[in-house]
Amino acid sequence: MDYDGLIIGGGACGLMCAAQAGLLGKRTLLLEKNDKVGAKILISGGGRCNYTNLHTDIHNFVSENPDFLHAAFSKWTVDDTIQFFKSFGNIIGEEKTLGQLFPRSNKAKDIVAVFTKLMFETQQDVWLNAEVKAIDQDGGAYVVTLMHEGRERRIVSKKVVIASGGLPVAKLGASDFALRTARKFDIRIVDTAPALVPLTITGKDANWYASLAGNAVFSRVSNKHITFEENILFTHWGLSGPAILQLSSYWRAGELFTINLLPHRDMNTLIKEERAAGGKRTVSQLLQMHFTKKMVEALGKFLPIDLKIASLSKADAKLIWETIHHFEVKPAGDKGYDKAEVMRGGIATDELDAKTLESKKFKGLYFGGEAVDVTGWLGGFNFQWAWASGYAIAQDL
Ligand SMILES: Cc1cc2nc3c(=O)[nH]c(=O)nc-3n(C[C@H](O)[C@H](O)[C@H](O)COP(=O)(O)OP(=O)(O)OC[C@H]3O[C@@H](n4cnc5c(N)ncnc54)[C@H](O)[C@@H]3O)c2cc1C
Repeated sequence: MDYDGLIIGGGACGLMCAAQAGLLGKRTLLLEKNDKVGAKILISGGGRCNYTNLHTDIHNFVSENPDFLHAAFSKWTVDDTIQFFKSFGNIIGEEKTLGQLFPRSNKAKDIVAVFTKLMFETQQDVWLNAEVKAIDQDGGAYVVTLMHEGRERRIVSKKVVIASGGLPVAKLGASDFALRTARKFDIRIVDTAPALVPLTITGKDANWYASLAGNAVFSRVSNKHITFEENILFTHWGLSGPAILQLSSYWRAGELFTINLLPHRDMNTLIKEERAAGGKRTVSQLLQMHFTKKMVEALGKFLPIDLKIASLSKADAKLIWETIHHFEVKPAGDKGYDKAEVMRGGIATDELDAKTLESKKFKGLYFGGEAVDVTGWLGGFNFQWAWASGYAIAQDL
């Protein structure tokens, strides 16, 4: 069979690429190492799949060059995503929070079903349990070596799409194949690291965080690059929750960040108001108007929570303000690729044509999705990139 392209990886990007190629009357062969396609889509968003974000903008992405995204996002917009799933799968999107769109059915498998149906109808071939081991150049074509049904096979194609994703979650099929191939072809890679990942705390503070495990606090977390306002979640090993996951994409080992535990009130004002009312309440009572009892007890490690507001010194009030609004955290590390939602870094965007995602050095070799140095925020942005890059590549096959 003479294919218009071989697609390595049956995740979000590879599936969209195959489906769009099919709609254009092209034939592709998709190679997936798992025994099913779309493993990550199926578990995404807690099995509900947050498949795009209504407010998608290049500022929602971490990349050496976010402007790179303009080309793909102008060809494939959020509206295109919504219309695509509506037209081919009757999927109606429902916004949960902050622009995050989920299928109204709350079933990620409905998203995957759109692709399997379209690929069947447009006669795209899919080989499951097909793990690609290597790509080699042979004249104007590529030889793809894979293991399929227990034996080694070689397929030759002029166009090969690497949509094999990033490093997070090995048990869902993640591999370093894209990075390995880039190294082999001397294609530059931006340093990779787990992103959208919980952060760990060790040492003398570890027990304090662990004592609060399960408590969520609406907070503003900031470092020198960015600020996010959402829940943080205390865990037995440190911090998680949406605000922490978002910040983790901008955090580097050894760095500090701060948490404003009460972003919409000012402790100085609250203390002043309480003083004006007689100052009979204790710090603990005042804090319990804004935090859980458990949290206030834990804050007692740092604050004079049994003192009456009327008897607070200037220094006490300053300490309270700093602890609540400028709580410093120095994580020991992150929970690693098995707990990360995405990989930061990847194939450098300046190695790729922004319109087609074809390698500038190797004609016919394409990289899409998470393998590329484009990392979205939490909230459906990563899928929007995977769909858009898959679409862009399909146009060029
Ligand atoms: C727990 C979790 C929840 C998430 N939830 C969301 C969400 O709700 N919204 C959102 O936008 N993003 C979410 N993400 C991120 C999103 O899943 C990824 O960004 C997206 O799947 C990337 O698409 P991709 O096609 O590049 O890679 P993937 O979807 O990872 O697909 C790559 C495929 O390639 C296959 N493969 C790898 N190596 C080989 C090889 N050598 N040969 C053959 N096949 C190979 C893999 O098995 C895999 O199927 C979530 C991620 C995780 C881990």
